[in-house]
Amino acid sequence: MNDYMIRAIAAEGQIRAFAVTMRDSVEEARSRHNTSPVATAALGRLLSAGAMMGSMMKGDQDTLTLKIQGDGPIKGLTVIADSHGNVKGFAHEPEVLIPANAQGKLDVAKALGIGLLTITRDIGLREPYVGTSILVTSEIAEDLTYYFATSEQTPSSVGLGVLMNKNNTVKQAGGFILQLMPDVSEETISHLERKIGEIISVTSMLDAGMNPEQILELILGEFNLEILETAPVRFQCDCSKKKIARAILTLGEADLTELIQEYQPVETHCDFCNTSYWFEPEELQELLEKGK
Ligand code: ZN
Repeated sequence: MNDYMIRAIAAEGQIRAFAVTMRDSVEEARSRHNTSPVATAALGRLLSAGAMMGSMMKGDQDTLTLKIQGDGPIKGLTVIADSHGNVKGFAHEPEVLIPANAQGKLDVAKALGIGLLTITRDIGLREPYVGTSILVTSEIAEDLTYYFATSEQTPSSVGLGVLMNKNNTVKQAGGFILQLMPDVSEETISHLERKIGEIISVTSMLDAGMNPEQILELILGEFNLEILETAPVRFQCDCSKKKIARAILTLGEADLTELIQEYQPVETHCDFCNTSYWFEPEELQELLEKGK
């Protein structure tokens, strides 16, 4: 795995910044879910955002869920990230094929359609923190920028990109998030706006083979950029037969007994990693005995 992210500050802490390279993780998602190119691009963008936003959380057990629901053919995306660089996710309709947009690019906006972005932060409080905003462009990066501004009152700039090889495997994936801290000066804001106006798109940066350090250096090099942390990221699901067994137990004794009497193996599927777990009637019987 060559995927990693960096966390940085610039302009003496007036700006915080994140950048990630995610090729292997997005390719893992693509092969697990057999996603079409446009679904790979959409999921890869949200996975990249998830990896960076996961690292914004402080707690060991904290989890972040990013959910997009839209009226386009993909119908939605779900991504879950933790604070250790683990990220997993799926496209609700992974095999969608639609024509390229007017620029000849994968049409993520059309595939997602009009809809909502919901972000849930479970940081161990009784109620998780939930924020929702509308999709403004359905290209994901702009939608997250809008979410940060409206739901978290943090002015941000988000760039996300996924490039495909001709054989539909992932060539490059990654992105950046820049955020203005509350004490930011007017001078820093206008300088950064000028700088962002000059930069090439994140896909061009990725296509040029730029790594996360080079991406942030290009944007924030004039702002006394300080890289604080470099950390690996990966597509990883935490499901297991044991966990699924616990979930089956929550069906209750009556339903479980009924399943056992049907005397058929029961399949339980994890959407996040596209893995099926099978339980034989004998195993269900054992679960039932243990659960009593
Ligand atoms: Zn799983």
